[in-house]
Amino acid sequence: MKAVCWQGIGKVGVETVPDPQILNPRDAIIKVTSTAICGSDLHLYGGYVPTMFRGDILGHEFMGEVVEVGPGVTNLAVGDRVVVPFPISCGNCYFCEKELYSLCENSNPNAHLAEKFWGHSPAGIFGYSHITGGYAGGQAEYVRVPFADVGPLKVPDTLDDDKVLFLTDVLPTGYMAAEQCDIQPGDTVAVWGCGPVGLFSIQSAKLLGASFVIAIDRFPERLAKAKIAGADVTLNYEEHSVLTVLKDLTGGRGPDACIDAVGLEAHMHGATHIYDRVKQAMRLESDRPGALREAIVACRNGGVVSVPGVYGGLVDKMPVGSIVNKALTIKSGQTHVHRYMRPLLERIEKGEIDPSFIITHHLRLDEAPLGYEVFRNKEDECVKIVMKPDGQSLASHDHSHSSHVH
Ligand code: NAD
Ligand code: ZN
Ligand code: ZN
Repeated sequence: MKAVCWQGIGKVGVETVPDPQILNPRDAIIKVTSTAICGSDLHLYGGYVPTMFRGDILGHEFMGEVVEVGPGVTNLAVGDRVVVPFPISCGNCYFCEKELYSLCENSNPNAHLAEKFWGHSPAGIFGYSHITGGYAGGQAEYVRVPFADVGPLKVPDTLDDDKVLFLTDVLPTGYMAAEQCDIQPGDTVAVWGCGPVGLFSIQSAKLLGASFVIAIDRFPERLAKAKIAGADVTLNYEEHSVLTVLKDLTGGRGPDACIDAVGLEAHMHGATHIYDRVKQAMRLESDRPGALREAIVACRNGGVVSVPGVYGGLVDKMPVGSIVNKALTIKSGQTHVHRYMRPLLERIEKGEIDPSFIITHHLRLDEAPLGYEVFRNKEDECVKIVMKPDGQSLASHDHSHSSHVH
């Protein structure tokens, strides 16, 4: 089959690799019909996540058709159309029973590596380095799904792929980010980053009752999508001082909750940016925490800082004093996707949410190298790329006012 493989820093290729096989009774094989590129894939592409090996198959956001099931999978049948959550979860362990699926204790065969980095291991994740299991990902024609009796969610034929694909990750991720804010009527929520995760954080904050949502980014097309998602105000951080504007908009008090939907590759300017880039390049610091620092400093006393943005290792100059003296609550995590898929699918079925508004590009799977480049560089007003393995080259996108990729 064809699959998108990591070939080194800044390099992916579409290679012919062996088809996946059922290895365990609870496995299923899925023929992928749609798969997306995520901000998390960019951290692998950029070489910020250790334990990637040449030839590793990428992709943790995918859906498709069941083509084979192991004898332990009784809830799925060949021909079912399913969306697959990105964390791999057994459904039976201490954490799965608490619905903390991204912390499953049974799905990361390389837990010993993760324990060295983080103290304890999270769940295995598709296509996301060897620290989280070394599983082959879903940017491929076929993929093996372990614990297929727990993860995949059947979706109705009435909803096309673009409407349900994001149940795999970014829609639940934005929702959990907002849920962690414990939003009360009247609350103001500020969201750093208007990529897919930020956009669904904004939309979810509104769904959960936020009165006022402020969206922060620097790309006009992303800020425009933030408006569609429900942001009351958008803020271009290259034109304004974020901390000053957030104070002005909240009577000096600061937002009740701040969401960091940027993660470890934050773009910053000025002296602190240079400091972090140099330290990251010298491997003295693994991540660039610019947005997180700003979110902590901006948040009101007693507020919540919710961090869906991914960090991998060590950072410097964390305003810890601000966390303690302002009595902040910090909540984070890889998303417990399984917990949110069904309720969010119901909202999609009722027409309360149409997640497809974030898609700007459809590509064929073999156009992945171009897709990664365009998405990383935020070229061509790219916000989200969906790839269809056997479609014709769609190589088109939804705006008429910008140039085409080709
Ligand atoms: P993305 O790259 O499309 O979006 C990131 C956005 O942040 C960009 O629009 C960029 O312009 C903006 N940004 C950069 N620096 C900024 C700054 N200083 N202030 C404000 N905005 C800034 O990525 P995405 O797909 O939306 O993912 C965002 C983050 O969420 C990534 O770190 C990704 O790994 C993470 N993520 C986490 C989970 C989870 O389970 N927790 C799931 C999916 C993605
Ligand atoms: Zn993702
Ligand atoms: Zn488990």
